[in-house]
Amino acid sequence: MTVTQDYIEHKFKEFNVLIFDGKLKPLPVRLSCARTFLGQLRYRRVHSLIGGWKFTDFQLVISRKLDMDERLLEDTVIHEMIHYYILSHQMRDTSAHGTIFRRMMTDINERFGRNISIRHRITDEESEKDMEVRRHLICVSRFADGSLGITISARTSIFCLWKELPCLPNVVECTWYMSLNPYFNRFRRSRTPKIYRIDKDELEQHLVSAVRLIKEGNVIRSL
Ligand SMILES: [Zn+2]
Repeated sequence: MTVTQDYIEHKFKEFNVLIFDGKLKPLPVRLSCARTFLGQLRYRRVHSLIGGWKFTDFQLVISRKLDMDERLLEDTVIHEMIHYYILSHQMRDTSAHGTIFRRMMTDINERFGRNISIRHRITDEESEKDMEVRRHLICVSRFADGSLGITISARTSIFCLWKELPCLPNVVECTWYMSLNPYFNRFRRSRTPKIYRIDKDELEQHLVSAVRLIKEGNVIRSL
């Protein structure tokens, strides 16, 4: 479903009354283009007048780039509201998703039939829904044992990576491609020489329409 700021604000109000006894103050809601998280609570940590830390300047950020269904979107909002409840009440949890967080989450899941989890990262299933067409600069590295890995280069880093990737241990060959296939949206763009292991058949299947890139002096062009 399409995420709008109004919708998130509306859900925040609804869940604040229903789940959090109206104990959360309104906060700014922002939509983000991030593909690496569904939701995020942003805040600042400042020195408190009475010593220690105080959490302040909260913002609720929800990704609009991922096609979440309504349930997942609601669960994502509630997940961030639990963080907000803990931090805005200046409670100290054992970690980001510590004892207090887990207790509240379990309680809400049971009482309201929700399916909130502690993961923030994007699952494969969600990545598969990201179908926007973008240009990917892809280096396929072959390792000494015959397995393959890929690196999606940030546009500005291609010259660096072109030079550095072949120098990594066990890399015997690097081949570059340009592809518009949304399959590659799920990989984070690299500025540093890092390689994701990938299944050979899966990769070949998605590289079918890709264009080979070659480098001649200071120019990279399609073959
Ligand atoms: Zn969280």
